[in-house]
Order: sequence, then structure tokens, then C-alpha cells
Amino acid sequence: MSTRATDIAESSRVEGYFCEVPHEPCAIVMFGASGDLARRKLLPALYDLAVHSCLAPRFRLLGFARTEMSDGAFRTNASEFLPKNGAGADDGKKQDFLNQLEYFGGKYDDPEAYRCLAERLETIDRENQLGGNRLYYLATPPDVYPHVIEQLGRANLAGPKNGSSWTRVIIEKPFGHDGASARELNAKVLRVFDESQVYRIDHYLGKETVQNLLVFRFGNGIFEPLWNRNYIDHVQITAAEALGVERRAAFYESAGALRDMIQSHVLQLTSLVGMEAPARFDATSVRNEKIKILQSIRPLQADTVWKSVVRGQYGPGNVKGAAVAGYREEPGVNPNSATETFVALKLLVDNWRWKDVPFYLRSGKRLARPATEIAIRFKRAPHMVFQGESVEPNSLVLNIQPDEGISLSFGAKSPGSQMRIQPVTMDFQYRQAFGAGSREAYATLINDCIRGDATLFDRADSVEAAWGLVDPILEAWQNASAPPFPNYSAGTDGPRAADDLTASEGRRWRPL
Ligand code: NDP
Repeated sequence: MSTRATDIAESSRVEGYFCEVPHEPCAIVMFGASGDLARRKLLPALYDLAVHSCLAPRFRLLGFARTEMSDGAFRTNASEFLPKNGAGADDGKKQDFLNQLEYFGGKYDDPEAYRCLAERLETIDRENQLGGNRLYYLATPPDVYPHVIEQLGRANLAGPKNGSSWTRVIIEKPFGHDGASARELNAKVLRVFDESQVYRIDHYLGKETVQNLLVFRFGNGIFEPLWNRNYIDHVQITAAEALGVERRAAFYESAGALRDMIQSHVLQLTSLVGMEAPARFDATSVRNEKIKILQSIRPLQADTVWKSVVRGQYGPGNVKGAAVAGYREEPGVNPNSATETFVALKLLVDNWRWKDVPFYLRSGKRLARPATEIAIRFKRAPHMVFQGESVEPNSLVLNIQPDEGISLSFGAKSPGSQMRIQPVTMDFQYRQAFGAGSREAYATLINDCIRGDATLFDRADSVEAAWGLVDPILEAWQNASAPPFPNYSAGTDGPRAADDLTASEGRRWRPL
């Protein structure tokens, strides 16, 4: 066995995946390469793909940002976030990867910088026979995106270089600040790139359990017949964080939980739970079904926002036994901030499958524990033959993080002579079943983009449809003063009003 083949076999055994055929070589230009996302997530994800033989050995990465930095400093920065142990900790592999990175200092709106970038790309392309394939990754703050897009267009860097090459662009979230700005950004992007070149990323969609939701629903015969209003009482989607605002106060102050989490991640999960079966598992079919469900969600009106949406902001409290500050005391946060760090809402879907089945969504910071999950709560058995016993309705819970897996709860007879029924669960754990943790979401998505598979990326129309659902809430909030904040203590399950949202309909949230 050659060294290369041994490496591949080794990595497949240790990490559970590898690519049999590396992808076509390409140059990746990462805008905002000096930033947090690039260092913490994107470069490690690319390294992960490299050690698992998914990236072509000849790939090249150019980090582009304003900070002055040498190639060596960029590589040193990148190396800090590469694995310190496990299969990827091999110093030789790390060095091979780092040697393929270089840094390019420039201003995002400076035509001269893009002229030089074009020249550099030509050289890299020629020297490494990259075939003209290019991937641009926009990992800057969002107000920089239009500048980069415009300059790429002006420097003739947006179209495919030749008939057989490809040029793609990944755009980070948030995509817009509201419906109008998302439409404006889409218009700007689509003046320069064709929609088929644009990959709007929401890293939640790269998580194994999120993709597994599609396999679970459409690859198995037993669940789909139950997946409708006849058997499902309601759906709960939770994206809870125990962390506070951390270093993102400036961003978060102008975003809040509704924009940051609900408009993107949580509505994405909603559309995967609610969509009809696509004709095929390809980008067009899947995304056509996802947009239909967003379009079927009953839009909230000014008068329904108050009944259906709860906002909250954390005050001081205790998380995992440690005292933590309230949101307004966090560095960089306005001491009178009206930004919401928690949202809970109820949506209804006006179609045959989901008529009258509420979708309760919630997301917040500084909650009792980190948990992203989708819980399908089934209806009670129509008649209870076991007198005196009450059985909790069945729940199917898809855990997205921190531990990816699926569990089904049902009533079982407890041992003994008496008929006593207790809830038990049947569990599937990703790590246990496959002997490995799932791949980092960013690695999955960058891998898909290089393969030209846009299935797990957002299309222009679905981004705009998601904003269309969120805009009336933003508008209603803007025209009224916020509730008395803070209205929940850090380390709890959120504000009391969120409990009332479900309790008023005889339901309750799953405890965190
Ligand atoms: P950073 O704030 O770290 O910004 C990235 C880089 O952009 C900086 O290193 C800086 O590079 C440049 N930059 C920062 N501010 C400005 C500015 N005002 N004008 C021009 N350039 C600026 O952002 P992140 O890396 O955290 O995030 C990048 C993008 O990814 C954002 O859109 C964010 O919303 C999104 N995102 C981030 C996540 C994360 O975990 N960090 C998670 C999900 C999405 P230089 O000064 O060298 O040019």
C-alpha cells in the first residue's frame, strides 16, 4: 500500500469519512481572513477536508483582509486552530496544509487590490494547474459584502475563467438585516453572479442530524405516514445557548435573537420538518419544497404578533453554578439596551398536512443548557384502556447539538404485578452508532460547494421568504416599547411569558 493510500485508510478508520476521489483543484479566496470565523471555523474545516483527501492536493488558499500580515504570520495564526491531538494532529500533514495558504493584504473596496488579486490568481492558477476554478468565501461583516461583490465584478473575477472552469461564491449569514435589505443584497449579488454560482450559507444545514432529518423522513417507510395533522399534536423547535453575547456585542446589539437565530437557523429547521417529499435529492427539488413551506406559514399581522411572539432579555443569574452578568452589563452593550436575547413564537402552516398544528419556536442566550432540538409531539392514544394510568404522549426528539441523535419516548409497563406505565426512550446516538463524531458543519458545506452541490445552501427566494415572516414582528416591535427588560434570569428556561404561550393552549415546552 502506498503512503497516500495508507493515510486515507487510516483517516477513514479514525474519523469515519474520506473522499475516494479528491475534488477538482481550485483557488479559494477568503475575504475577512484575519477574522474570528476564518480562524476558528473555516481554516480548520478546510484542513479537515485536506486530511480526509477531499481537497485536491493542488488547492491553494488566499486569505484576503486589510490587516497587514506576512504569509508566515497568517500560517502561524491558522496553525493555532488546527487539531492538537487525534488523527489531524500530525505535524507533517499540518505543515503540508499550511504551505498551501498565503495572505493578500488589501482594502475590500479598492479596485487596485482586485487588479493585483486577479494577477496573483492567474499566476497561482498557472503554477498549480487549477483549471481556473475559483471559490470566493465572504467572511467579512455583512456591510462589506456589496463592496467585495462589486469589485469582483469590476475586476472580471466573477464569471467562469473558461468554458470548463467554475467560479462560486459563499456568502455568510446574516444575509440582510430585514426583507428590504436582503432583496437589495440579492439584487447586487445577482448583477455580478448568476444564482447558480451563489451559495448562501447557514452552517446549521451542514450538521449531520439536520441532513439526517431528510433521510429519517424520506428514506424510511414508517415515519412519513404519521408526519401530519392526524397524528402530530404540535412541533417544538429549540435553539438554546448557555453562552451570553461573548465578543459579539456590537453585532448582537443591532441584530437580536429574532434576526440572528429565528430568521435563519430556526426557520430553516422549520422548513425541513414541514416540507413535502422532494422528487429527488438535488438542489432544485429540495429547495423548491423548502420554499413552499415558508410560503405556507401564515404571516403574522400587527395584532397577532402580541399573541404569538414573546421576547426576552436575560438579567444576572447562574449558569452551571457560576454567577454571570445580565445582558445590559456585558461589555459593549448599551446599559438600557432593548435588544432581545430570547424569542419564542407560535406559527401555523396553512396547508393540508399541517392545518391547526402549531409550530412553537424558541431561541435564546444564557438559558439553562445549550440544546438545539426538534421535538415532534404526537397526539394521545384515542382511548386509555389502562384505568387510572395516564401516559405521556409520544415524543420524537431530533437532537442537533450538542449530542447529535434521535430519541423516541413511549410508555412501557414497569416491572411488577401491577399495571404501571412509565415513560421510556429509544435512543440513537450518532457517535455510538457510527463510532465517530459527525463532521464539522463548515467542512460539509465547503465540501458541497466545491462539488457544486447547492442542496444545503439558501436560495435567494427562500432568504427573502424567511425575512417576509420576520419583518412584521420587527415592525410591530419597532412601533412599541419593549417589555420591562430584563425579564428572565440567566441560567433559566426563559421568560414566564414564553411558558404562557404554550400553556394557554394546554401544552408546555420541553424543559431545558
Ligand atoms: P469579524 O468581526 O472577525 O470580521 C472579519 C474580518 O473582517 C476582520 O478580521 C476584519 O479584517 C474585517 N472587518 C471587521 N470589521 C470591519 C469593518 N467594519 N469594515 C471592514 N472590514 C472589517 O467577523 P467574524 O469572523 O466573526 O464573522 C465574519 C462573518 O461571518 C460575519 O458576517 C458574521 O456574521 C458571520 N458569522 C460569524 C460566525 C462566527 O462564529 N464568528 C458564525 C456565523 C456567521 P481586516 O480588518 O483585517 O480587514
